[in-house]
Amino acid sequence: MDQNRPARLAAHVEAARLDPGLYLVATPIGTARDITLRALDVLNSADLLAAEDTRTLRHLMDIHGVPLRGRRVLSYHDHNGERARPALMAALAEGASIAYASDAGTPLVADPGYRLALEAAEAGHRVHALPGPSAALAALSLSGLPSDRFLFLGFPPPTETARRAWLGQWIWTDATLILFESPRRINRLLSDLCEIDPNRITVVARELTKKFEEIIRGRAADLAAHPRMGLLKGEIVVLLDRAARPAPGAEQLDERLRELMARLSVKDAAKQASEEFGLPRRDLYQRALDLGRDQNGRADRPDTGETDGR
Ligand code: SAM
Repeated sequence: MDQNRPARLAAHVEAARLDPGLYLVATPIGTARDITLRALDVLNSADLLAAEDTRTLRHLMDIHGVPLRGRRVLSYHDHNGERARPALMAALAEGASIAYASDAGTPLVADPGYRLALEAAEAGHRVHALPGPSAALAALSLSGLPSDRFLFLGFPPPTETARRAWLGQWIWTDATLILFESPRRINRLLSDLCEIDPNRITVVARELTKKFEEIIRGRAADLAAHPRMGLLKGEIVVLLDRAARPAPGAEQLDERLRELMARLSVKDAAKQASEEFGLPRRDLYQRALDLGRDQNGRADRPDTGETDGR
C-alpha cells in the first residue's frame, strides 16, 4: 500500500463541492500517475460518476485512493447511450455535478461522450473539459513528424474496399495524419497505403506511456516489409507524414491518361500514370476505361453536322 495514501485520501475527502454540470474527465492511457490533480478532485467531489466501463473507473479511483462514499457509478457507452442518457440528463436538470470518463484518454476522442456533451450543452448545462492524456497527441509529440498542422482520422474502416476509398479521400491532405488501428489490421493498412504512396513516411507509436512503449518509423514500404509488423501487440497509433507533392487535379490526371492512351494500351497507360502520380493502379485503370469509353462514344456518334446549340 502506498505510504502517501492516507494523506492524499484526506485531501480528497475535504474537496469542495463542485458546481453543477457535466465534467469530461481525461484519464491515463497507460501510466496511472498521468492522471491530473484536477481530475482526482472532480472524481472525488462529483455527485454522480459515469463511465464507459464502470470497473475501469473504479479501479483508477482505487489506485489513487479516491473513495466512492456510496456514490453510484453509471455505465454510459456507445451501446447504451440512448437508454442511459435520460437518467444523466435528469440528474443535471436537478443540479447535479457528473464526472464522465471513458476507458482511457480523452472522452469523445474516438470514444463515447459526444451526444451526452451536446445534449447537456443544448439543455443549458455547463460542460467542463478536464484536459489530460490522449493517445493521438502523445503519438504526435513523439513521432518526429510536423506538428504545426495535423488531422485526426480515428479508426480506418475494417473492410478493404472501404479502407482504400477512405485512404484515397484523406491521404493527400496537407497535414500530418493521425490514425488509430488495431495491431491485427496494421499489415492490411500498410499494404493499402503502399498501393497509394509507398514512400510515405509512416510512424507506428505503440504502447505509449507503458513499459513497452516503442516508436517504429520508416517509409510505408519499409514498414510493410518489417518482420515485426505482423507480430505487434498492444495499442497503436499510426501517423503519416504529409504528402511530398500535392495530389494531381482530376483534369491533370485525365490529360495525362489521354496522352498515354494515345500510344499505350489502357492497362499500360494506367500502370505508368500510377507510377508517375503515386495513385492506385486499379483506380487509374477504371478512369482510363471511362475515358476510353467516352472517346469511343463520341467517335461512334454519327456526324450529322448539327451542333448542340452551344
Ligand atoms: N479517447 C482515447 C484517447 O484520447 O487516447 C482513445 C480511445 S480509442 C477507443 C483507443 C485507441 O487509442 C487504441 O485502439 C489505440 O489506437 C489508441 N491508444 C490508446 N491508448 C494507447 C497507447 N497507450 N498507446 C498507443 N495507442 C493507444
